[in-house]
Amino acid sequence: MALALGVDIGASFIRVGVIDRDGRVLTKERVPVPPEGDENTMADLITGSIRNKLPKEQVEASIAVGIGSIGPLDLRSGNVIIAPNLKWRIKKFKVVEPIRRALGKQVILCNDAAAAAWGEHVFGDGRGVDNMVYITLSTGIGAGVIVDGNLLMGKDGNAHEVGHFVVDAELGIKCGCGGVGHWEAVASGGNMPRSISLFAQKRYAGPHTELYRRAVSGPPPSAQEIFRYAKEGDDFAVQYVDYISEVHAMGMANIVNSYDPELIVLGGSVILNNSDLLMPSIIEKMKKYAANRLPEIKLTRFGDDIGIIGAAALVHDVPSTLRKFLVG
Ligand SMILES: [Zn+2]
Repeated sequence: MALALGVDIGASFIRVGVIDRDGRVLTKERVPVPPEGDENTMADLITGSIRNKLPKEQVEASIAVGIGSIGPLDLRSGNVIIAPNLKWRIKKFKVVEPIRRALGKQVILCNDAAAAAWGEHVFGDGRGVDNMVYITLSTGIGAGVIVDGNLLMGKDGNAHEVGHFVVDAELGIKCGCGGVGHWEAVASGGNMPRSISLFAQKRYAGPHTELYRRAVSGPPPSAQEIFRYAKEGDDFAVQYVDYISEVHAMGMANIVNSYDPELIVLGGSVILNNSDLLMPSIIEKMKKYAANRLPEIKLTRFGDDIGIIGAAALVHDVPSTLRKFLVG
C-alpha cells in the first residue's frame, strides 16, 4: 500500500508520521525544536527523527516526504525563511534538498496552514467541498485557502497570510512582521500576553481584578492562564476574551468576504482548547462583519495530527497549483 511521510515544522515542535492513502496515521512522533540552530539543524532533526523514531519498513514503503512548515517560505529554493515565532539567529534554513539527499525520496514543501487545508480537502470535512478555508489559531495565525477546487498559492506560495489582516486601529500593537494592528499581533496565543496589557491600559474601565493587575504590572499572563481566568469568571479576563473573540470574528469575516468559502475548518491549540468559550461568540459576532453569506464553521476532526496529515496529503494527491514550485 502507498504510504507517505508527513512532517509538520512548528516553532516549538516538529512532528513526523507515516500516513496511508486513506489519511490514517500509522505512526507518529513529536520532537522539540532546539532554542538555537544553524542552516542544517532543522533538516538533520527531521531526517534523524524519521530514521530513528519511525518503523523502518514504513519509511521504506513511503513514496515521498510532504512537509508543512511555518513560514514564510521560499518554495523555489526549498528554504524556510525564519519566522518571527522561531527565534533562531540565522535568516533561513534549508529543507528540501538536504532531506531529499539524506532519504533518497522526493520532498514536497508547503506552508503549514495551506497543507492543513489540503489535508482537510483530501481526507477531512472538506472532501468534495471546492471552496473552503482552514484557519489555525495557535501561537500564530495562518490559513490555507481552496478556491474552486485549487489550493491558492500566489507568486511565491504565500497567498494566504491572513494573520496580517488589519483588525485593530486602537491598541497600536506591532506585529512580528513590522506592521501594526495585525490579527496575529492582537489575538494569537503568542501575542495575547502583550495585547492584554495594551487592552488593560487603553480599552478597559472595569474592576481591577487579579488578572488586570498582572496585565498592568506583570508578570504577563500566558494565553492559557488568560483563558483559565476567563473560565473562572474574572471580569477583566471575560472582557478581554470577548474582545479577542471580536478580533477573530473580524479576521474570519475578512476571509469570508475575500474567498466566499462554503466551509471554514478551525484548528490550532488556542481554538481546540477553548472552543466552548470562543466558537459561539465568534460566530455570533461574524454576522455583523460579513458581507457574504456565512459558511459552515467546524473544528478540525484531526486535532494536533492535522499538520502531518496535511503534509502527507501533499504527497498522496499533489495539488496542481503546487507543481510549478516543486524542486527536482
Ligand atoms: Zn503582521
